[in-house]
Amino acid sequence: SLAEKLQNTFKKLRGHGRLSAEDVNAAMRDIRMALLEADVNFKVVKSFVAKIKERAIGANILESLTPAQAVIKIVNEELTELMGGTVSRINIAANPPTIIMMVGLQGAGKTTSVGKLGTMLKKQGKHPLFVAADVYRPAAVKQLQVIGKQLDIPVFSMAEGSNPVTIAEKSLEHAHSHANDVVIIDTAGRLHINEELMQELKFIKDNVHPHEILLVVDAMTGQDAVNVAESFNADLGLDGVVLTKMDGDARGGAALSVKAVTGCPIKFVGTGEKLDALEPFYPDRMASRILDMGDVLSLIEKAQETFDADEAKKMEKALRKNQFTLDDFLNQMQQVKKLGSLDKILGMLPGMGGLKKKLGDVDMDLKNNKELAHIEAIIKAMTPAERSNTNIINGSRRKRIAAGSGTRVQDINKLLKQFAEMKKMMKKMTGAKGKKGLKGFPK
Ligand code: GDP
Ligand code: MG
Repeated sequence: SLAEKLQNTFKKLRGHGRLSAEDVNAAMRDIRMALLEADVNFKVVKSFVAKIKERAIGANILESLTPAQAVIKIVNEELTELMGGTVSRINIAANPPTIIMMVGLQGAGKTTSVGKLGTMLKKQGKHPLFVAADVYRPAAVKQLQVIGKQLDIPVFSMAEGSNPVTIAEKSLEHAHSHANDVVIIDTAGRLHINEELMQELKFIKDNVHPHEILLVVDAMTGQDAVNVAESFNADLGLDGVVLTKMDGDARGGAALSVKAVTGCPIKFVGTGEKLDALEPFYPDRMASRILDMGDVLSLIEKAQETFDADEAKKMEKALRKNQFTLDDFLNQMQQVKKLGSLDKILGMLPGMGGLKKKLGDVDMDLKNNKELAHIEAIIKAMTPAERSNTNIINGSRRKRIAAGSGTRVQDINKLLKQFAEMKKMMKKMTGAKGKKGLKGFPK
């Protein structure tokens, strides 16, 4: 998959202390191949790779956590930008009803997407009306009626042989008199783009003036989806794209190219046949999914702001070798303190949910945190030998440490227990993932 290919590329970069121009060139060649294989438009690939390269060489990436991570960060940011940067919402009319017209080729998923959009809008408190303007196949009207019934959303239709423009116009009157604040028009498709189809859609557009024309394309068709988007946009003018069948083994090329080629944002993605399988399209999340990084990127970003890079590297190594000592623990606490809240940090790490639960009774606010001050005092009252091997801390040592730190023996017990839990968790995490190590972190 694209994610695996990119991960491989990044793996090669890792382990390099410094990146030479040759390293970057090699990585860019790999990224270029991976994108082309994922069926991303070649012009898009070309300018994308050029941009990444320019940034990777120009940026001060050697000062960051690791150069490889910095490259990943740049790729992630550029992928996000490529897909439109931020989430694009649908235009809602100041004066209802909001008119949404769904267009696209046959089988792309228009009718299903009408149902999904209806589900979503209904959840938001809207009162949608579906309009059956695909008059060429009687089964199409029936299909929409079945969906409407299932969702308890009314469907406007007219007798067989009616003109789609008339149906669309009449549906607006119906919406006005029935207080429907959103009208979603399901139009006919063809197997291929042709003049007749475009004419009909243009007529509907010119007569009902939709607030939103959404093109529905099938992600599985890759570059074809992008070509379809380009020609619909040229003829009709689109406000957005719904990319369906992203649950299948689509190679991702369409998601990456649509915005760059057409200038139209992807607004929704279809992720299944069910009527609730529609999600707003978040370019940043999509980019992370492609890079298979979870939220690790945001952690790295946050860490870059506050962590001392060397400390972070040491910690990472200790974590991986499972040689995490109380010194590291203290160090981490102090670093983490700068980040604000423990809860936020743990939330950003994949697989840390369990640890978060185990630490349940820890005060999550790290600034002016009493417990943290205690922990600091306790660890500082220990000898170096005790810090690196907690097993030797027997009863009499506990008493001494408690006295030395102005705490009670039960505080020492509690800390040691928490530390042991934490180590166990970490071992599980690094162990279970095998060779891959802590998810998202380089080896
Ligand atoms: P239309 O001809 O454009 O109206 O397409 P339909 O809405 O009738 O959908 C065609 C087929 O694609 C149907 O079998 C749908 O169930 C299926 N479909 C639509 N959207 C999705 C999706 O997001 N994921 C999957 N797996 N199937 C979808
Ligand atoms: Mg249909």
